[in-house]
Amino acid sequence: MKRFFLLFSGVLTLAACSADKTAQADRKAAVSNPPQVLMKPNGAYQTPPYASAAARNPTLSLPSNFSPNAGVTFTNVANNGNFIALTFDDGPHPKNTPRLLDILRQRNVKATFYVIGKSVKLYPDIVRRIHAEGHELGNHTWNHPNLANLSDAKVRQELDSTREAIISAAGVRPRTMRPPYGSLKTTQRQMIHRAYGYPTILWDVDPLDWKRPGTSVVRSRILNGTKSGSIVLAHDLHSTTVDAMPSTIDALLAKGYRFVTVSQLLAMKDASRP
Ligand SMILES: [Zn+2]
Repeated sequence: MKRFFLLFSGVLTLAACSADKTAQADRKAAVSNPPQVLMKPNGAYQTPPYASAAARNPTLSLPSNFSPNAGVTFTNVANNGNFIALTFDDGPHPKNTPRLLDILRQRNVKATFYVIGKSVKLYPDIVRRIHAEGHELGNHTWNHPNLANLSDAKVRQELDSTREAIISAAGVRPRTMRPPYGSLKTTQRQMIHRAYGYPTILWDVDPLDWKRPGTSVVRSRILNGTKSGSIVLAHDLHSTTVDAMPSTIDALLAKGYRFVTVSQLLAMKDASRP
C-alpha cells in the first residue's frame, strides 16, 4: 500500500505544477487510467528494504497474457532469450516462504508459487506478499490429493476452494495449475483447461529437493538440468531447499539466465515459435 500512497501523493504533487506540460499529461493519464488496487490494506506486512543497491536480475517488463490456445500441458517453453521459470510448490510456509521471498527480492528474481489452498487460508499475509512483490500465484489444490483418483466434481472442488482462497488473500486469480505429484489424466487436463483456462504446468528440472539431499546436491541438480525455457520445480515447504537458493540463483544468474513467471514464459510461446 505504501507504494500506492506514494503514487497518489505523486499525482497530487504533479497537479500542483500546472505549468509543467509533461506533468499535466502524466496527470491526465493517471486520471483516465486510475491505478487498479486489487490488494486489501495489509498492516501486518512491511516490505523489507533491498539488501543491495543494484538488483542483479534485470528488471523485465514482459507481457504475461498468454493465449488460451498456447497449449494444455507444459514442461518447458522454448525461447530465444535464456528465460526460465522457477516454481515453488506446497507453501506458503510461515518461516521458509518469507525467507525465500527475501532471497528473491535481494536479486530481483520473480518466481511462481503453486500454493496449497488450506495453507493460503492459514497464512493469507504471506500470499499477499508473494503477489505484492511481483511473483505469480498458481493453483496447487486445497488438500494436495492425487487428482487422478478423483471425480471431476471433486477436482473442481479442490480447484474452486483454492482459487477463492487466493483471491481472498491477494486479490488476484491464479492463471495456471500444477497437479500434486504431477498426476493428472489427459481428460482431466482438458476439462480443467476448458473450465478454468488453466494450463497444466509440469516441469523439466526436478532436483528431488523434498528428499532433502542437501543444499549442494539441490544446487548441482538444478544447475545441471536447467536450459533456456526450463521450468524448475522446488518446494518452499523445506528449509533445506530455501538454504540452497541463494547460491543456486546466483550461479544461474552468472550463467546468463533470466527469471520470469510461468505466465510470462507461456506468453513467449507464440513469439518464439512462429
Ligand atoms: Zn505439491
